[in-house]
Amino acid sequence: MTTLTKTEDKPAPTGPEAFLSVRDLRVAFSTEDGVVRAVDGLSFDIERGKTLGIVGESGSGKSVTNLTVLGLHNRKTTDIQGEIILDGQELTTASEKEMEKIRGNKAAMIFQDPLTALSPYYTVGRQLSEPFMKHRGASKKEAKDRAIEMLAKVGIPQPQTRFDDYPHQFSGGMRQRAMIAMSLMCDPELLIADEPTTALDVTVQAQILDLLRDLQQEFGSAIIFITHDLGVIANMADDLLVMYAGRAVERGSVREVLSEPKHPYTWGLLSSMPRLGGDTSEALVPIPGTPPSLLNPPTGCRFHPRCRFRDEVPGDLCSTERPLLADGRAAACHLTGEQKQSIFIDQIKPRLG
Ligand code: SF4
Repeated sequence: MTTLTKTEDKPAPTGPEAFLSVRDLRVAFSTEDGVVRAVDGLSFDIERGKTLGIVGESGSGKSVTNLTVLGLHNRKTTDIQGEIILDGQELTTASEKEMEKIRGNKAAMIFQDPLTALSPYYTVGRQLSEPFMKHRGASKKEAKDRAIEMLAKVGIPQPQTRFDDYPHQFSGGMRQRAMIAMSLMCDPELLIADEPTTALDVTVQAQILDLLRDLQQEFGSAIIFITHDLGVIANMADDLLVMYAGRAVERGSVREVLSEPKHPYTWGLLSSMPRLGGDTSEALVPIPGTPPSLLNPPTGCRFHPRCRFRDEVPGDLCSTERPLLADGRAAACHLTGEQKQSIFIDQIKPRLG
């Protein structure tokens, strides 16, 4: 049982059923300009068969968190504290060799850009087959059969022929599908999808999302879905974690967070998004300012320099004291429950419709 320190957010109470538990994760890395504190005290759980959406602007720490879960950080320059427990195994102290066994086998990642994940020098078939032979001890023939089966499953036409193609012979949508096939070769129990459909047109995007849902049903995998697109999250995720400047600021079921958001940053995200069927003449309301540098992040609530509601909180609490995330459905903000409720009803809800 983890002892939570005073400055630590509390995780959603999924308890012993959690397949992945992240506790008070802190990730900092050295750069020429100084130490970047990319993730600062993050805790969350995810169960098998569930999808957790993580949203936030660039630099919110969502991608760093997930690269760290899979041990894809630079071990020489990155300092990691806290716990990452995957199916009972602590990963922050695992060796690179142990992480290699986990990656592509028990856990896999779908990257945003397949061209960076697929090597241009090897055929798609070879890139699918080799990890399967390595992780499962399969023969070349077994691995080829499995790769063709997976290429067919993700909707690649004529998979027997396409097995011998190089990535450049595939269209963008097909490369994305091939990468998904590659990540699913060993039936991973944890799948991390980092903006998997951003580079695709809307039709292909919808097909890929359908495919991920079908595959989750078939394999019962836990999925972490990272995106800045709340529309995609609404369709894909069970639970939602909103991140800002390396911290979780709001958490709950997707329905709760999107229908009754409680954090000023989530209000800002939703107000700056066009609504389907909304009035097109209605101006979107951007969040003022830009995300902070994590070399020298703001004190207290990291959102305070951009927050329209900080004057509602007495004294200088917002700029001096970190608001913590409580158990379960929660928002890390010093506004009281009544203040959040009345601001949401009077000012935010009319904008969201
Ligand atoms: Fe805004 Fe203060 Fe809440 Fe931060 S704690 S979101 S600055 S009101």
